[in-house]
Amino acid sequence: IKWTDGRGWHDAQLVPYAPLSIDPANMTLHYAQTIFEGLKAYRQPDGGVATFRPEANARRFQASSRRLAMPELPVETFVEACDVLVRQDKEWVPTEGEASLYLRPFMIATEVGLGVRPAREYLFLVIASPAGAYFSGGVQPVSVWLSEEYVRAAPGGTGAAKTGGNYAASLVAQAQAIEHGCDQVVWLDATERRWIEEMGGMNLYFVYGNRIVTPSLTGSLLPGITRDSLLTIAADLGYEVGEGRISVEDWKRGNEDGTLTEVFACGTAAVITPVGSIKSTRANWTVGDGGPGEVTLRLRSALLDIQTGQAPDPHGWMHPLGA
Ligand code: PMP
Repeated sequence: IKWTDGRGWHDAQLVPYAPLSIDPANMTLHYAQTIFEGLKAYRQPDGGVATFRPEANARRFQASSRRLAMPELPVETFVEACDVLVRQDKEWVPTEGEASLYLRPFMIATEVGLGVRPAREYLFLVIASPAGAYFSGGVQPVSVWLSEEYVRAAPGGTGAAKTGGNYAASLVAQAQAIEHGCDQVVWLDATERRWIEEMGGMNLYFVYGNRIVTPSLTGSLLPGITRDSLLTIAADLGYEVGEGRISVEDWKRGNEDGTLTEVFACGTAAVITPVGSIKSTRANWTVGDGGPGEVTLRLRSALLDIQTGQAPDPHGWMHPLGA
């Protein structure tokens, strides 16, 4: 779907997957006006297909577009575009289990020019790719690297938007994580370098027995849809759940004195993954016994059961698209 200044959204098309032809002076290539989303379509027990909370992705996409000075796509148009593609690609939705069809809606500027200002022409696209189960052979804890040198986002910046620049800024720290033998980066706040924000592509949750806390949305971390869903599911299951501030010292001390029993990360890709160990320039430590915890696994099954239609959907999160 195209957007042109003065004309709005026009020319929605369903076309076979193919490369785009891009002018070398395309504004996106230089000034990175690009936003995206990620969501999944799961096979349901009746053989039909359903996406998980597409309206929530549509609203986050609108918030991202406002921050990047891009036009807002109506929620209904975003959802309809995803529906049209899933219906077209239905045979690519795996037939069972955690496997899914991953959808990647995104928007780029298409205007040609070298002046730095919001573009006056855009293109919204949705592409899809089958995604296998994130864990083959059981849920494996990830090891994380605490990034003390680099920050992903700062107050007033684009951290709460799903825009390419945030990921570009994160790659050097991700490379450091790998060098230190870790799977993922944990980001701290930019001001004090003390408060836990999120991971490279997932939000974090801290489990203190029956009490579960996730870092508050400070404006510099992504408001994850899985994070939001788990605030509700954890409360449904009887946990005391809320948002708060967790410092690096709180995390370390909690694991040392045993009050912090589990830490897990959550996002569309993995749904939930346990965090097993953490490394930084100052200290390395293990979370609990390093294995997946009971609360982590319980929440993971509860959410996946809703997504795959194995459990009722009390909050109306599934968006069915028929068989
Ligand atoms: N934080 C970041 C930086 C991410 O890229 C993602 C993945 N979209 C998340 C958190 C988790 O968000 P969601 O639950 O909506 O996938």
